[in-house]
Amino acid sequence: MDFKLSEEQELIRSNVREFALKYIEPVAAEIDSNSRQPSEILEKLGELGMMGISYPTQYGGGGAEFLTTMLVTEELGRSCATTSFLHSYSYGLVGHPILTYANEEQKERWMPGLAAGQVVGAFALTEPGAGTDVSSATTTAVKKGDEYILNGTKTFITNAILADVFVAFAYTDRSAGPKGMSAFLIPKGTPGLELGQHFEKMGVRGSQTSEVVFKDCVVPDDSLLGQEGQGFKIAMSALDVGRIGIAAMSTGMAQGCLDESIKYSKERVQFKKPIASQQAIQWFIANMAVDIDAARFLYMNAAWIKDQGWPFSVAASKAKLFCSECAARHATKAVQILGGYGFVKGSRAERFYRDVKLAEIGEGTSEAQRMIIAGSVLR
Ligand SMILES: Cc1cc2nc3c(=O)[nH]c(=O)nc-3n(C[C@H](O)[C@H](O)[C@H](O)COP(=O)(O)OP(=O)(O)OC[C@H]3O[C@@H](n4cnc5c(N)ncnc54)[C@H](O)[C@@H]3O)c2cc1C
Repeated sequence: MDFKLSEEQELIRSNVREFALKYIEPVAAEIDSNSRQPSEILEKLGELGMMGISYPTQYGGGGAEFLTTMLVTEELGRSCATTSFLHSYSYGLVGHPILTYANEEQKERWMPGLAAGQVVGAFALTEPGAGTDVSSATTTAVKKGDEYILNGTKTFITNAILADVFVAFAYTDRSAGPKGMSAFLIPKGTPGLELGQHFEKMGVRGSQTSEVVFKDCVVPDDSLLGQEGQGFKIAMSALDVGRIGIAAMSTGMAQGCLDESIKYSKERVQFKKPIASQQAIQWFIANMAVDIDAARFLYMNAAWIKDQGWPFSVAASKAKLFCSECAARHATKAVQILGGYGFVKGSRAERFYRDVKLAEIGEGTSEAQRMIIAGSVLR
């Protein structure tokens, strides 16, 4: 068994770390406090080839393994959850379904821009009444001649206000249950595609989250992604990939919490010595270090399984569950180590404390992951 990253992967990892220290760390708090989409950073990452590093070269990608993308997501998460989340989202929930299910014309239209960090995509699945229970969605797409007419409301849609393209899901045949759901690629500006409520959030505040409303939204039938009736499968497949991304992002955030805890505990003097010399603090830090290693192995394992072309759905759920809960556990500890300084606005620990919560909810809650894992072990 080989746990060693390739030289190229190590280099990419250290380049992204340097990039994050230079361009992201200085603005991460401001991205959070102003709820600002870090578009300039994503574009820069695109210029460096980091948005599409695992896409095929024919679409402007780097042709690397999926694991390499996840290493980038992790390193970004160590500095800024928003940037990491948007990096992972772009690959998992937009690039992956297009790459896997789109026809050649659709791929040529969208993939190079995604790889360059110039095309922003949104994944529109969740509805006000259909979160974990995706199949209870009510958005419909009715075929009339060579067009579909979409009606319905999607909620919590990341990037909706900025998206060039929506990967949207609607029932073409409700009577068929999940097998009657279809996926569409809908460009921005399509009449009838409107924005609804915009949400202010507790964490990952730089990502933009809104409702999307389809009101007699007419799209040509070549907007279909994959075949009619494949929508549910496409959505689940995208979420499987996205979950590894959330796991990598969470590992990065946990590492960021450890970085902060080490730095602060060595500097902070109480009772005439650094708090790092107190065994209670050392145990917090030791537990963090162990959990982070375990988290990293789990997400890398899931990514590696995907790279082998093997089924990776359960491995992705295990990684997402463990890594997100690991990050949440240790963000709490990082705030504890920083004491009052961790509780006040502006500390990295405080930001991670709020940011990590998304990892336990988005792209399937921890309970949803446990349902998938339990289903796989109890069958
Ligand atoms: C910041 C943010 C960004 C998002 N971006 C997107 C996006 O871009 N596109 C998109 O489509 N969606 C997006 N989502 C939606 C996200 O995927 C959902 O919030 C998530 O799947 C949970 O759905 P819900 O919020 O409706 O919660 P619900 O499904 O209503 O769940 C509420 C609670 O009940 C629990 N629960 C539900 N069913 C069960 C069960 N059977 N057994 C045990 N417990 C259960 C859940 O685990 C949770 O604790 C985003 C969400 C957030 C917060």
